[in-house]
Amino acid sequence: MRAAVLHAPGEVRVEEIDDPEIIEPTDAVIRLTATCVCGSDLWPYRGVESVDGPVPMGHEYVGVVEEVGDQVRTVKPGQFVVGSFVASDGTCEICRAGYPSSCVHRVFMSQIGTQSERARIPWADGTLVATPDLPDLDLVPSLLAASDVLGTGWFGAVAAEAGPGRTVAVVGDGAVGLLAVLAAGRLGAERIIAMSRHEARQKLAADFGATDIVTERGDEGVARIKELTGGLGAHSVVEAVGTQESMQQAIGSARAGGHVGFVGVSHDVALSGEDLFFSQVHLHGGPAPVRRFLPELIDLIWQRKIDPGRVFDLSLPLDQAAEAYRAMDERRAVKALLSV
Ligand SMILES: [Zn+2]
Repeated sequence: MRAAVLHAPGEVRVEEIDDPEIIEPTDAVIRLTATCVCGSDLWPYRGVESVDGPVPMGHEYVGVVEEVGDQVRTVKPGQFVVGSFVASDGTCEICRAGYPSSCVHRVFMSQIGTQSERARIPWADGTLVATPDLPDLDLVPSLLAASDVLGTGWFGAVAAEAGPGRTVAVVGDGAVGLLAVLAAGRLGAERIIAMSRHEARQKLAADFGATDIVTERGDEGVARIKELTGGLGAHSVVEAVGTQESMQQAIGSARAGGHVGFVGVSHDVALSGEDLFFSQVHLHGGPAPVRRFLPELIDLIWQRKIDPGRVFDLSLPLDQAAEAYRAMDERRAVKALLSV
């Protein structure tokens, strides 16, 4: 089958690799309908994370089940499925507590790669959710978004305790940040402040429910959030970048007693214990437990109540994966969909 393979920083090639097979009786093999490039794929692409030899890329996916192992009960061949970017058994104590992305048997799908024609999905029962029927073609981007960026933005908003009567600030205007805006709106937030200096992204944030846009960053961004919130800071802040500056901006923007949901994959962030102590904020984050939210998110998409697929502003065939990476690396695209 064809798959996008990273050979060295900046070098993605679509080439033939072995077809996946059922290895464990709890596996499924799916034929991808669509996949995409994630902001986190850019870390190894840019050489920030080291690359060890040629590695198949990708961890977001939707598609049709082709084959299941003997012990798979909840999905069957022919069904259209959405799965999390982390495979989880769905039965361990951590999964049952709502944290399947830290399942004791978890498998990060990035270790398998889903920018490909087919993929093996471990723990199919715990990982995959079937849609009610085969989806209309125009729903595919939104269902694909649920696999990671929507689920991650949603978790960011939940972890930040976005809800009625609360002011939510979102640091980061990538797909996750934009969908955290959407999530905060669905969760009933009263005011949603998107931090962005990019016009097209500001517009999408407004369409997703942002009531205010802040273009300043760093200390100036924090000062602006304080100014908009009577000097107190936001009740809820979603951090969707993962850098030192964005974490400091997020914590600094939250009021005492407020909540920060941090879902940007952290790279070289070092926080001052003293600053944390005096910030008096709740911190909750990490790899999003997307599987927890999938049934609800699929339902909202199926009923056309949300349209998260709008974050895809570039759509290319899998064969042009290299261009998809370049476009995202150069910030010409918010998020690139690859049709298979
Ligand atoms: Zn588990």
